[in-house]
Amino acid sequence: MREQIAPRRLLMSVLTLMAAASAVQAQTVVSTSGSAPSAPASAPESPQVSWDLTDLYATAQAWSDSLARMRTAIDKLPALKGTLGTSATSLFKALDQISALNREMIRLYTYASLKSDEDLREGANLERKQQAQALATQLSEKTAWVAPELLKVGAAKVKAFRKANKALEARFNYFLDNTLRAAPHTLGLEAEQILAAAGNFLAQPDALHSQLADAELPVPTVKLADGTSVQLNEAAYEKYRQSDNRADRKLVFDEYWGAWKKFEGTAGQMLATQVMGDHFSAQSRHYDSALQAAQFPDNMPDKVYRTLVTETHAALPALHRYLRLRKRLLGITDDLHYYDNYPPMFNLAKPPHYDVPESERITLEALKPLGEDYLGLLRQGFAGHWMNVYPHPGKKSGAYMSGSAYDVHPYLLLNHNDDYYSLSTFAHEWGHGVHTLLANRAQPYEKAGYSTFIAESASIGNEMLLNDYMVQHAANREEKMFYLGKGMESIRTTYFRQVMFAEFELMIHEELEQGKPLSGERMTEMYCGLLRKYYGEAEGVMKIDTPYCLEWAFVPHFYYNFYVYQYATSMAGAASFTDAIQKDSASARAHFIELLKAGGSDYPYELYKRAGTDMATPGPYRALAARMNRLLDDFEALEAQH
Ligand SMILES: [Zn+2]
Repeated sequence: MREQIAPRRLLMSVLTLMAAASAVQAQTVVSTSGSAPSAPASAPESPQVSWDLTDLYATAQAWSDSLARMRTAIDKLPALKGTLGTSATSLFKALDQISALNREMIRLYTYASLKSDEDLREGANLERKQQAQALATQLSEKTAWVAPELLKVGAAKVKAFRKANKALEARFNYFLDNTLRAAPHTLGLEAEQILAAAGNFLAQPDALHSQLADAELPVPTVKLADGTSVQLNEAAYEKYRQSDNRADRKLVFDEYWGAWKKFEGTAGQMLATQVMGDHFSAQSRHYDSALQAAQFPDNMPDKVYRTLVTETHAALPALHRYLRLRKRLLGITDDLHYYDNYPPMFNLAKPPHYDVPESERITLEALKPLGEDYLGLLRQGFAGHWMNVYPHPGKKSGAYMSGSAYDVHPYLLLNHNDDYYSLSTFAHEWGHGVHTLLANRAQPYEKAGYSTFIAESASIGNEMLLNDYMVQHAANREEKMFYLGKGMESIRTTYFRQVMFAEFELMIHEELEQGKPLSGERMTEMYCGLLRKYYGEAEGVMKIDTPYCLEWAFVPHFYYNFYVYQYATSMAGAASFTDAIQKDSASARAHFIELLKAGGSDYPYELYKRAGTDMATPGPYRALAARMNRLLDDFEALEAQH
């Protein structure tokens, strides 16, 4: 993920078998920005650049046959009810059977979803996806009794069973720990059923928001300086805010946020409803706050969130230094404004061009510090038909890696445009791909799926290694500056901006939890305060114009229940590992690879710690700030050479 569009966890609410084991859910899809550069109308789809879904199911008929078999098998699951406490063997047998169905269900879902993303306009694809979703819901309903029954069996008995049955311990230890840990937050059967039924309603604010933001917001048409008329939908806004013409980007900002201003109250009500829903779920399950509830599945200590925010505040001078550089490069002599964030601050006369073979070659070179085993897996991935590379009409935008089909291999959807953004996305998504391969090889199915907290370390780490490599191997001073600029901009958007989002998210939740009214107007006021702090208005860095403080209304992340802070934390983890690998390659690399191999075999905080990084301490966040300052130092040294 970069910038606006957050990764969406596929099957977010339907996999309750491993209810507490968020890792299983998180593994499904790790995605990147939907705000990819605009695609050429059509590109030829050769076998080398298109994925082969027959590795999942040989034919559409084979998929339908498996679906039918699954339906019958799932219907038989309630027969297992009451057997979990009988003996170690019966507990193992029940979990094994459920896990096997879960595994096949996810494979079915993966096929349906990937097939659908090839062409979103195809009705048959949509139907298949709906069938897979219905199957997932069916499985979730027919296994809803598992957690309550395990809690009834109790920790002491489960412990004895685990000792008695080696296979049970090897495959289900994490799941059992995690489920039993949830005892204080698990309700009686009737209450659980009510909460499960409420899930659908609670998902509606997000649906309402995308309906408005992506489809029905009445957007103005503007006339740009060169005479072109542009209808300012989301895609056009994201494109034209990058304009080199300052008057154009101001116009685009004024008109786009002007359109949102008319819906400030509506957007506020929608977001407040989301926050109320988070609060309702948290309270129903006896959590102190929505944040605590969101941290529970990963067992993340509260201190990680607090340290992230404190350390990011301490690092703001690095962001301000970057913004001052941006102002200088854009040749702005009066105040820097929020609309000056998007135009490229450094253009090359001849922008570099990376097709897929070139992207593969560079990625292999740049990731050499990760070692021969890592590179071997990459080569294996490149040789297989695992990627859907080029944009074409009807294809899903953005980029993601889908690694849920445990018995098959990862798949990657890209919209490769041959530019640096595409190259960087390529290295990023392959970071997820290799992570999946390593975890799947080292872990049984039940412990392979990794947490988002770790996922993005694997991918952003690759982006950082790539960026450093490109700077080192640039042909000349201008190219070096170009890549340094890209590296800094990525830290602004994927770290500082996300932490600011995270702070806003906590603020609106806390307002509500303290019983304060939460209107759109109040949200704008809070958002303004954050923008002014982050972009250094008091320090004279940037002037924040109030109309743009409506930005919160457009950001989908706030509907994802404290997603963004996981992402920002992960980026700090990436900086810390990249640093260590570059300084002291052998042992740091071994630690990092161990982390990837660990998959979801323990809580992410513990896994990080085992890899030598304590995410509750300032270290990793300071490594990221140091990286930003180092890129700035290098850039300014090159500037001075002239
Ligand atoms: Zn990612």
